[in-house]
Amino acid sequence: MGPDHPECFQRLDVITDMLMTLRVLDLLAHSEAPTVSKEELLRVHDARYLDDLERILPDKGYTNIDLDTRMCPNTLKAARYAAGSAVQAVNEVITGQAKNAFCAVRPPGHHATSDTAMGFCFYNNVAIGAAHAIAEYDLERVAIVDFDVHHGNGTDEIFAGDERVRLFSLYETDLFPMERGKEPEGDGVYISLPAGTGSEALRAAVETTWLPALEDFKPQLLMVSAGFDAHVQDDMSSLAFLDADFQWLTQACLNVAKRHAQGRLVSVLEGGYDLESLARCAAQHIKQLADL
Ligand SMILES: [Zn+2]
Repeated sequence: MGPDHPECFQRLDVITDMLMTLRVLDLLAHSEAPTVSKEELLRVHDARYLDDLERILPDKGYTNIDLDTRMCPNTLKAARYAAGSAVQAVNEVITGQAKNAFCAVRPPGHHATSDTAMGFCFYNNVAIGAAHAIAEYDLERVAIVDFDVHHGNGTDEIFAGDERVRLFSLYETDLFPMERGKEPEGDGVYISLPAGTGSEALRAAVETTWLPALEDFKPQLLMVSAGFDAHVQDDMSSLAFLDADFQWLTQACLNVAKRHAQGRLVSVLEGGYDLESLARCAAQHIKQLADL
């Protein structure tokens, strides 16, 4: 998205570097993502929106979508691989080729609605994966746990009124994309955390709000919108999560997947813009998923 933009290519490099440093990179199975198909995109996005994105893609330089979101000539190519990654991960996990999967992708996806690109997002990767699981494998209950510091408004909008997909989204109160004083009006299970919230209040909220609702819902597949921007080191928010909180959240997701979904879990990278804490927390998240 241009120089000095927080959604930068180094975000993926630092995760790989950290996996190497921890000596776990070689222990993981790796899959190359295919590009997403038009049919897979159309399950969650409007045809006209997809055409518009192609039309405004620049040949050189940038197209500004909003103040923070820009397209360069390669944006949609990257976005097609990012969404294809979620589809591929769902295929591998549902058919038992992989126990679970982490999609190391950018651009992120959870702010992309059916017809609007925003918040660095173009195609809603996690939603495309969930819709694929339902269409291709006849799943009736997919949970999306979104612990990115921003409300997953795109995912919320895409699955509004769809009882097969339930969104569990935590976010910092009043932070983008929320308007000040407003709360989401969708049918997700929300946790709104005021600026400054740290470990104790986070864990209490998850235990009293998310976990009982997840038990009730009994997902056949757990998808995770894994954003690491609620970390105390990340300037994108004013929450104060620590490395150990992301480990705790990962374990909570794994427990639910094991109990209800035969362990089937697909995690897709969303935000996380402080490169140090992103590298540590994402690598630890992956290590836990791989049981290493
Ligand atoms: Zn975020």
